[in-house]
Amino acid sequence: MTFADDRSATMDSLKRALPYVRLFKGKTFVVKIGGAPCSEPSLLRDLAEQLSVVRELGVHVVLVHGGGPQTSLLSRKLGIEPRMIEGRRVTDAAALEVAVMTMNGAVNTNVLAACRAVGLQAVGVSGVDAGMVKARRRAPRSVIVDGTPTMVDFGHVGDVDAVDPTLLEKLMAAGYLPVVSPLAADDAGNVLNINADTVAASLARALRAEKLVFVSDVPGILEDKGDPSSLISCTDLRGLEELVDNGSVASGMLPKASAIRMALEQGVARVHVIGSQRASLLTEIFTNEGSGTLIVRDRRDLSPAEKAASGELGATENAKAAGG
Ligand code: ADP
Ligand code: MG
Repeated sequence: MTFADDRSATMDSLKRALPYVRLFKGKTFVVKIGGAPCSEPSLLRDLAEQLSVVRELGVHVVLVHGGGPQTSLLSRKLGIEPRMIEGRRVTDAAALEVAVMTMNGAVNTNVLAACRAVGLQAVGVSGVDAGMVKARRRAPRSVIVDGTPTMVDFGHVGDVDAVDPTLLEKLMAAGYLPVVSPLAADDAGNVLNINADTVAASLARALRAEKLVFVSDVPGILEDKGDPSSLISCTDLRGLEELVDNGSVASGMLPKASAIRMALEQGVARVHVIGSQRASLLTEIFTNEGSGTLIVRDRRDLSPAEKAASGELGATENAKAAGG
């Protein structure tokens, strides 16, 4: 490729991105980074770079991180075998201590360090700060374990009662990027562990976010979780439910599916699940092709222009083209 070709390709890309830039300026995106990308410095750095671009284009960003693999790793080092049921961690007192050390300690700091390396002014907080995420300890519930209904006490695991986004809004108004660790507390000050996907969806709703983006260790939602080429480019709540019912969506994708449903039902227009390969976030947000899975509430809610562009909506790229 000659220099002139290269320059004209850049100009074309910028031109194609312009409608999206206009659409998203001044809006809020909640981006959740999964534990696996958080443990890989080069991926984290690449994501931080992409987030600086998004912010420079006038989008307000709240970053939420997970930390499952790191929590399990430290847990095993300390001789505590982690237990996951339906993609959620069973959290006894020892597991909670490990989760606090890992999430509010190591993972949060690593994300901040990656932001620092690209000049992003990031501030680490957790749902415990300033009453941000109020939760209630989950009562023991019946869950299917190995095909059998079993009463499970998830321990120090919370369900979100309410979110007060004031702190996040103040940080963003002052130009900081909030980096949120997914711990919360109840009104008595008991710390509770919450799946980061759930926290991200609750924050997206409270902030009236335009978009909620899950950055995971898979390229998006897969029809067959063992086959990365079975990526689903676009679906809606009904499609998602089918994938859960037929077992295509399992383990860690289950809390994500619930979080996606909650966000879409409560006003977030578009949710994306993407991988952490290079430039995945910018590609998903600012190009017609996208990189992962776009989930909307109902395909029929797409505008006439979107429908026209996408035919039967099989052509996901077109749906994305029309609405980002
Ligand atoms: P994260 O840190 O992104 O929350 P999780 O491990 O909790 O990561 O969830 C992502 C995992 O969900 C994937 O690595 C994959 O093993 C699993 N998974 C289950 N069903 C699916 C599916 N249909 N498509 C993609 N991933 C799936
Ligand atoms: Mg997860």
